[in-house]
Amino acid sequence: MCYNFGIFLKRIIAMMKSLDSNGQVVPIGSRPNNAGIKNPTESADLPFSCDLSVVIPVYNEAENLPILQQQLAASLNNLKIAYEIIYVDDGSTDGSLAALQNIVQSDGNVRVIELRRNFGQTPAISAGMDHSQGKIIVCLDADLQNDPEDIPLLLNKIAEGYDLVSGWRKKRQDHWLSRTLVSSVANRLISLITDVKLHDYGCTLKAYRRDLLHHIRLYGQMHRFIPALAVLVGAKIAEIPVNHRPRRYGKSKYGLNRMFTVLLDLLTVKFLGSFSTHPINLFGGSGLFLIGASVVTGIVMIFRKLVYHQSFIQTPLLLLSALLFILGFQSILMGLSAELLIRTYHESQGKPTYIIRRIITSDRPDAEPEDGYSANRESLR
Ligand code: UDP
Ligand code: MG
Repeated sequence: MCYNFGIFLKRIIAMMKSLDSNGQVVPIGSRPNNAGIKNPTESADLPFSCDLSVVIPVYNEAENLPILQQQLAASLNNLKIAYEIIYVDDGSTDGSLAALQNIVQSDGNVRVIELRRNFGQTPAISAGMDHSQGKIIVCLDADLQNDPEDIPLLLNKIAEGYDLVSGWRKKRQDHWLSRTLVSSVANRLISLITDVKLHDYGCTLKAYRRDLLHHIRLYGQMHRFIPALAVLVGAKIAEIPVNHRPRRYGKSKYGLNRMFTVLLDLLTVKFLGSFSTHPINLFGGSGLFLIGASVVTGIVMIFRKLVYHQSFIQTPLLLLSALLFILGFQSILMGLSAELLIRTYHESQGKPTYIIRRIITSDRPDAEPEDGYSANRESLR
């Protein structure tokens, strides 16, 4: 057994090295980055072309769009800053695209991204963010439930130095059972498990500093977990109460089944937060515990055999001990495979396992943050 495990470990170590183009083994640390892969959110390497990008996911909201555009333009024109509005049509089938085409023609600040099919709210938000050019990005729903009048409040809070400001629908105007109650339980659970203290994770109305979004990729329906993911990369977060209005036209795209998606996403976020750079801690820990339990069960079994002359097969202890051992061993193997995956993830993309905010030296005591956003936040006041 020991011999086999030794061989197994040697194989794992061998796999953690890779061959260069000449067939030579290259240790992990000296492998070059995969320069061909570029993260689309890194469009911020370009100079910002405006102060603010407003990103709006749209799925069958035809009647709401002209009213929303009117309210948005009124609120944003008052701000006297350069802005763009990006509507992402997420495969609508109700004439939303035609409504958006009319809006584009009447307002030069508007762009429309049409997705090929309905991908979901999170991918639609991602598409908008990836194609935005503002220093600050604000997201809101297209159904008029969020109030564009709240955007200046979010920007003021960002100007105080926060990286992310989240809206809190304090007086929520949704069905009390299927929405308000379920979401208040979900919010408490998310807050407990992620240790990020917000009242309302599900509110789409949020403002982000662009540099923060470089470090966050959204998968599945993860937009509600952006604050938790942002805390993992060291963001400063604030929450402010915002207006919430009842839906007038169209209907909600979600039912109670969203609860299960949220629960599973929560598990993923917790795993990413606690074990993403060292998964063997989770799998190895539970593996060792299970093997320990297997040994204890084995000892009890032998004790009963020696003292009470009870045969090994008279009780389920033999089976239990074997089962626990196999489960424990499998868990450790899973941890080792996860360690391999993590190395591939970080090294294939040249991603370090840390994020620097800024480097301070004697000649640059007031150095700006590494990813280039200006510490001078006056421009948005
Ligand atoms: N949405 C989307 N794709 C989808 C589902 C929703 O772009 O597959 C948009 C929708 O048009 C709205 C926002 O996401 O702008 C929030 O959706 P909804 O109002 O149905 O969610 P609720 O307010 O009920 O949570
Ligand atoms: Mg809504």
